[in-house]
Amino acid sequence: MNLLFITMDGARKDRIVNAKNYSKLIEKSLFFSTTITYAPFTIAAMHAVFSGIYGTRTGVNSYWSNINFKKDLCKTLPRYVKDKGYTTYADVINKLVLPPIGFDEFVIHDELNDNLTERHLKLIDKFNNSRKNGEDFFLYLHYSNIHTGIMEKVLKKYNNFSEEYFENKDKNEKFYDELFSAADDYLGKIIDHCNEINLFEDTLLVVMSDHGISVGEKLGERAYGVFCYDYTLISTVLFYNKKLPNLKIDQQVRSIDILPTILEILNIPPDSNFMPIQGQSLIPISQGMDEPRIAFSQSGNPLDSNKPPKAPNIYSVRTDEWKYIKNIHDDTEELYFLIDDPGENVNLIDTVQEKAVQMRSEMDRILNS
Ligand SMILES: [Zn+2]
Repeated sequence: MNLLFITMDGARKDRIVNAKNYSKLIEKSLFFSTTITYAPFTIAAMHAVFSGIYGTRTGVNSYWSNINFKKDLCKTLPRYVKDKGYTTYADVINKLVLPPIGFDEFVIHDELNDNLTERHLKLIDKFNNSRKNGEDFFLYLHYSNIHTGIMEKVLKKYNNFSEEYFENKDKNEKFYDELFSAADDYLGKIIDHCNEINLFEDTLLVVMSDHGISVGEKLGERAYGVFCYDYTLISTVLFYNKKLPNLKIDQQVRSIDILPTILEILNIPPDSNFMPIQGQSLIPISQGMDEPRIAFSQSGNPLDSNKPPKAPNIYSVRTDEWKYIKNIHDDTEELYFLIDDPGENVNLIDTVQEKAVQMRSEMDRILNS
């Protein structure tokens, strides 16, 4: 079975579930609406997805650390399918976002000038031809234009404390909606074309977002990659193929679970010559198994600097109900009851001490494992 994997960079869950084309696809897919990213910025997020392992172990836990990726120890998705004889191809936003090892071709697009819809449709046709010759392929497509808009109109224009930004949430929402609507058009065109050529008869489609993006929720983070709040930590993933059930699962899962899920669907066993995959397949959850998954995340708050730090300085653990955040940079803690307080506004760290102890020890367990 072929693999078509699309990352919708910076796509927020609240927009995904309501968008015209996205929601149509969700209805037919195995969809996980609450997929907690390891890191709310592309480089660390994608290295975790591609290895099924948190950056604490792979070496990629900051904007600067892709060179530290333990490529000899961590077997990545393209290497898994390459070993099965797949032709592998990535079209990405820049050379840092993914570990390139295992890709036959690793091509960088120009996010400012390329028409990604046309470009990606051409790539799909190219691999559809090799598919007709009986060759398996893995095609990775990165939709980067939400990021492009945010970079041009938010990151370059404001800083993390600009009053003009945080006082105009409606305007920020509207701008984000424009970017998202273009992203949804892109997805619609790609999926329509794949349906026309019956690609999904023998191709697994995976569509994920790597992290969300702020529209001005919290002073100190104008976009993403600063804090560990839900508006950036919650991403989504869907798996689509005729053989998979169409189900919408709201239970929390983790982005490190994506790789083992793909391997299970493609019938590829984990390779015991490498570091164990930390994530777990989502197939048992789709079959009704009750398997709560605790999610760990890290981010790098630049504070008053204009560059992200070399090492993460905010850590969080999240369950379906609770979030515990440890701010390493100033040694403070936060605890939120997400069911009543999804906006994470009421810090319960001093009032619900029993839960704080429990979440702290979960974090220690993950860090020391
Ligand atoms: Zn991203």
